[in-house]
Amino acid sequence: MDLKDHIRSIPDFPKPGILFYDISTLLRHADAWQVAMGRMARAVRAHQPDLLAGIESRGFLVAAPLALKLGCGFVMLRKRGKLPGETIPLDYGLEYGTDRIEIQADAIERGQRVVVVDDLLATGGTMAAGIQLLRNIGAVVPAAATLIELTFLQGRSRLDVPCETLVSYD
Ligand code: IMP
Repeated sequence: MDLKDHIRSIPDFPKPGILFYDISTLLRHADAWQVAMGRMARAVRAHQPDLLAGIESRGFLVAAPLALKLGCGFVMLRKRGKLPGETIPLDYGLEYGTDRIEIQADAIERGQRVVVVDDLLATGGTMAAGIQLLRNIGAVVPAAATLIELTFLQGRSRLDVPCETLVSYD
């Protein structure tokens, strides 16, 4: 199955000039979503994760079912102020300004293997921040994984771990 048949691109979203790859159409097609999760599971299992960390919010949609399939735990990397209890933040640069992601301070045990998961790799800034935050709290990050990669943005070159992807656009 070609998963590209189930991913649509929407011009000028969220801003003029941006072509947005939308996974809603993949999520609502039961067979295609099963195939996608099966392929992701095969690729990610090889990195022997103890936990998957999903990046808010579409990363949750990928990481949570994948964690169930792999029999490992799931933790959330969330936007500012969303997580209860003690949190550890990481600020990272965007094209204009900065953003912050947070994780609960007790989300992982030192030395656990955590694969970071999102829906899409573009410039790689979000994924690099997720990896850094996990390392800051003692995780070993063997790999990253996304459904989609925009190869022309070379986000992979900002990562020092392999990134498993299913579909790429160049
Ligand atoms: P990056 O930090 O430039 O790699 O951007 C990746 C982040 O932006 C991910 O969390 C994606 O969910 C989001 N993103 C960027 N472009 C798209 C898109 O075309 N479709 C869906 N999400 C996108």
